Amino acid sequence: MGNVMKVGTFLPPPDARVSGSEPQGTYNPGELRGIIRVNQDKCVGCDTCRENCPADAMMGEIGVAHKIDLDKCIACGQCLINCPFGAIEQMSFVDEVMGKLNDPKVVVVGIPAPAVRVAIAEEFGAPPGTLTVKKLHSAMKKAGFKVYENNLAADQTILEEGGEIVGKIRYWVLGERSKELEEFGKHPFPHFTSCCPAWVRYAEINYAALLPHISGARSPMLMAGPSAKTWAALNIWKVDPVKVYTVGIMPCTAKIFEASRPEFHAAWKFLREKKIIPDNTPKFPDIDAVLTTRDLAEVFRRKGINPLEMPEEAEEKITEMYTGGATIFGNSGGVMEAALRYAYQVVSGKNPPSWDIYAVRGYTKYGVKEATITLPLKDGKTITVRTATVNGIKNHLDKVVKDVLSGQSPYDIIEVMNCPGGCINGGGQPVQPMGTSWIDPLLPLRLKV
Ligand code: SF4
Ligand code: SF4
Repeated sequence: MGNVMKVGTFLPPPDARVSGSEPQGTYNPGELRGIIRVNQDKCVGCDTCRENCPADAMMGEIGVAHKIDLDKCIACGQCLINCPFGAIEQMSFVDEVMGKLNDPKVVVVGIPAPAVRVAIAEEFGAPPGTLTVKKLHSAMKKAGFKVYENNLAADQTILEEGGEIVGKIRYWVLGERSKELEEFGKHPFPHFTSCCPAWVRYAEINYAALLPHISGARSPMLMAGPSAKTWAALNIWKVDPVKVYTVGIMPCTAKIFEASRPEFHAAWKFLREKKIIPDNTPKFPDIDAVLTTRDLAEVFRRKGINPLEMPEEAEEKITEMYTGGATIFGNSGGVMEAALRYAYQVVSGKNPPSWDIYAVRGYTKYGVKEATITLPLKDGKTITVRTATVNGIKNHLDKVVKDVLSGQSPYDIIEVMNCPGGCINGGGQPVQPMGTSWIDPLLPLRLKV
């Protein structure tokens, strides 16, 4: 194991899922509560977690063991990766996934997110930022996973979200009216991204009036799950979809929560409607379990696999292919950039002069990165799009949202990622010694801003 901190984990308690048919507090039936918890024996009440909590969910006096207000908690894990005493723990599905990997009747599909491939190597002693893509795929296959790239699904997300942005431009900016565009009339600018489940839960709890502004596109993980259980199961792997068990492999603890949301059963619905599975098939989720980057490292350790020693996988299957627009999702500004590339191409009918839109990209210590982008139209006119990339909810989001709600916002498209710098700094990533996340300005950064 490399120079990273060991993070405590716990099995999902029997009452972790909200039972019955009524919401409990801020949770809907079926959702997981308490994904992050404070170990009362280890917490010294130093308050570092409160300093890093975006949702004001941490309770307790200085010097006294802290607790989490679960109705406010958005499960982001920022408290965990910043705790200097290793006192914060994460609910883990490693045991369940190991059981599935060891069961020959189950087809286990791993869905690795972009930020995992630049972090998993740290758990095995490589320097932060070491990129492993094909070694990671090889290691996953050796462990028994089939690979469905989350990046492939990120490309789908951009087709959908970019399509929404173009639809809104046609309705709200160009004044077009048609049956096809009617729906966009209910979703005004500014447009907010929807990939970050911590942000979506934060908005639901604190700013419900904002929901019509948030993209309706599923996050890549929730696009990958149903695609793996339908298209890939039937056409690529040629297996019974009911035997497919999907595992999101994410840099993010909030993804554990997102997978449990009751609305995500699209594969089950589709397969029944198409009579591919019997009507009485019990309901199954699009994503069965989520492993964090740290959890995946634990699976590899239990299986005796070091991904750094694996060969570069030569064969690339269709479920492992993706574009550069998808792989930038892991960094702040990446979703925005990919959406703008798509919008540019569709509204102008030509490729942008450069695929790199640096103005929207990257981490800024000021929290909100602003840009003005010009999009040419097919008739020779141009439109201007004002963008904001919010680098971390804590300290930076509330003013942006209040301006939107009061009609004063200068922006047209707003990307929100809960974690400072984006998912690369997510709550499921390897934790540096002393529990300071690697993007902390005190650490020697190799990040170019
Ligand atoms: S998981 Fe996130 S929201 Fe919950 S207590 Fe920790 S920092 Fe706060
Ligand atoms: S920014 Fe990324 S890692 Fe952090 S909570 Fe959102 S989706 Fe998860």
